[in-house]
Amino acid sequence: MFHTADAKDIIEGKITDVYFERTLKILKAKKINPVVKAEFIAKSLPDEWQWAVLAGMEEVSYLLKNLPVKARALREGTVFNPYEPVMEIEGRYQDFCVFETALLGLMCQASGVATKATRFKRLAGERPVISFGARRMHPVLAPMIERNAYIGGCDGVAVVKSGEVIGEDPMGTMPHALIICMGSTVEAIRAYDEVLEPKFKRVALIDTFLDEKFEALNVADAMGDKLFAIRLDTPSSRRGDFYRILEEVRWELDLRGYENIKLFVSGGIKEHDLPVLNEFVDAYGIGTSISNAPVVDFSMDIMEVEGNPLAKRGKCSGGKRVLRCKKCNSPLIVPNNNKKHKCRCGGAFNDILNPFISNGKILQKPLPAREIRSFVLKQTGKLEI
Ligand SMILES: [Zn+2]
Repeated sequence: MFHTADAKDIIEGKITDVYFERTLKILKAKKINPVVKAEFIAKSLPDEWQWAVLAGMEEVSYLLKNLPVKARALREGTVFNPYEPVMEIEGRYQDFCVFETALLGLMCQASGVATKATRFKRLAGERPVISFGARRMHPVLAPMIERNAYIGGCDGVAVVKSGEVIGEDPMGTMPHALIICMGSTVEAIRAYDEVLEPKFKRVALIDTFLDEKFEALNVADAMGDKLFAIRLDTPSSRRGDFYRILEEVRWELDLRGYENIKLFVSGGIKEHDLPVLNEFVDAYGIGTSISNAPVVDFSMDIMEVEGNPLAKRGKCSGGKRVLRCKKCNSPLIVPNNNKKHKCRCGGAFNDILNPFISNGKILQKPLPAREIRSFVLKQTGKLEI
């Protein structure tokens, strides 16, 4: 069997830290069940990120709609800052206390993956970024990870099931295994061309047996205009100066009239590689860097009890409005009863923490992955990395 929970376990509250179960038992025995407001906040972001992208909210709504609670939330894909409440749940504490672990898990990992994907997409500019990292994670998580990589800004996903989840065709080239089974890189790309439908672009992987420069020319000569791109996945032990390898391959191809053949790279690419390699790269396959993205450490804290502000040390009490200036995009957090509607710049504020769920009804209709992705890229186009 797989060591994973299924949807039923999560909905029944079995994915909970045991101290919540014990808390529930005590509160029931003592007949204490106050109406509380609890909010979800990240006090800091990993890797010195200045902002992050909220993700996982469609799954959160799937869990919350079973509970007799109300919630407000930022729209999935919203860029948020440390200390900004991204969700607030209001209800009797006993009704949702055992779901804290699962709710946080749904938001923390998804938001980390989406943010990392956004950062790669920003650094890559117009060059496509494809999610290649499913293989580094438990397969049960692959569609979740790739869905969030896509909404964060990846142009495509590699896994078949992930493609179904986001409603897009999966993308891929060829594995080293095909070349090894065929016996040569040229035979592999010829077979690829012969067998697969023309809609799949002809991309030859060239680091299996021989030097990248000579293999690039071999496949270019064999395929001519039919070759769309060459993928370099050069092993790290041979990589040396990857920039120089790419420069040389580009030079040799151009010299022979193969300016149209694009260069794709994959294999352990990190954020700091992109500004260096962008000069020669036309598309990236990004694996572990995105699929194993650091999580956003959200926590859930009660900040109001029976209508009275009450929060633990280190937390501002009371319900809050989360605002964004329509003109200058400045963020502001004010208490719920503060009617502020104008920014210092004179622009009007938008409330972005809005009704999300009310007693089983989802009030923010989940958007298609493609629309969330556009929303993310629109907000992050000018933000600093
Ligand atoms: Zn403003």
